[in-house]
Amino acid sequence: MKLAELTWVDAKEAIKKAQVALLPVGSTENHGPHLPLGTDWFTAQQIAEQAGNKGGWLVLPSVPVGVSEHHRQFWGTLWVPPDVLRDYVVAVARALASHGMRRIVFVNGHGGNRSALTEAARLLREEAIFAHVHNWWYGIADMLGKLFAEPAVHAGPAETSAVLAIDPSLVRQDRYKEASDVDHWGKTVEGVEVGWDTIDFSDAGNVGDPSSGTAEKGAQLFEAAAESLNRFCTWLAEQSEEALSPKPHKP
Ligand SMILES: [Zn+2]
Repeated sequence: MKLAELTWVDAKEAIKKAQVALLPVGSTENHGPHLPLGTDWFTAQQIAEQAGNKGGWLVLPSVPVGVSEHHRQFWGTLWVPPDVLRDYVVAVARALASHGMRRIVFVNGHGGNRSALTEAARLLREEAIFAHVHNWWYGIADMLGKLFAEPAVHAGPAETSAVLAIDPSLVRQDRYKEASDVDHWGKTVEGVEVGWDTIDFSDAGNVGDPSSGTAEKGAQLFEAAAESLNRFCTWLAEQSEEALSPKPHKP
C-alpha cells in the first residue's frame, strides 16, 4: 500500500491496518560513470515496495536526498547536512504518529545516511515512536557474498545489478571501461582514515567492477532484501510496546 496513492478518506483505514510503515531513504549522488545519481533511492524504494506487497505494510513517499557531501566533486550530487536529514525524518515520523502509526522502518539505501537515521530512531524511541534502520546490504550479506566475487560496495556489481533489474536503460554499460578499478571503500594510512571524499580514492566515483552485474542477480537481490525486510516488519509488528520501550532502572 503506497500512502501517496491513497485519498485521506482511505488513508484512515490503511494506516490502522498496516501496523508498520516503511520510509525509503536514499541519496542523489555520484554512482560512477555508469549508474544514475538516483541509484540509492530507486533501490530503497524498490525494496520497500516489494516488502510492502508481501506483508501489507504502508509505504511512504521516498526521501531522495541524503548525506552525500563526500561525493561533492562529482557533478549533480546533492546533499543535506546529517542533522537536517535526522530532523526531517523525525518530523515525518511524528506526523505519522499523530495518525496513530508509531512503528516505522527507515529503509535505507545509502551508507552515508546510517548515523543520522540511527540518531533519529533513538530520539523517537523516547517519544514512544518505534523507528528502526534497515540497511539492505546487511540483512542479505551472505547472499551478496555468494552472488558477487568482489565486495559489493558503491556502484559496484551489486548496485549495478539492482539498477539493471529496475530499468536497464538507466545503466550506461558502454561506460564500464571508464569505471575505477578500486575494490574497497576509503583510504587509510596506518589504519587512520585519510579518504575524506570519494574522489580521494576513486577517480571515477565507483568502487568495485560493475561488469559482472546482471538484471537476474538484481532481481535475486531485491527478492532477498524484500523478504528480509518483510521478516523484520513481522517481528516489529509482533512486539509489545513494553518490549520496544527503554527498560526501567534496575531495582
Ligand atoms: Zn549507492
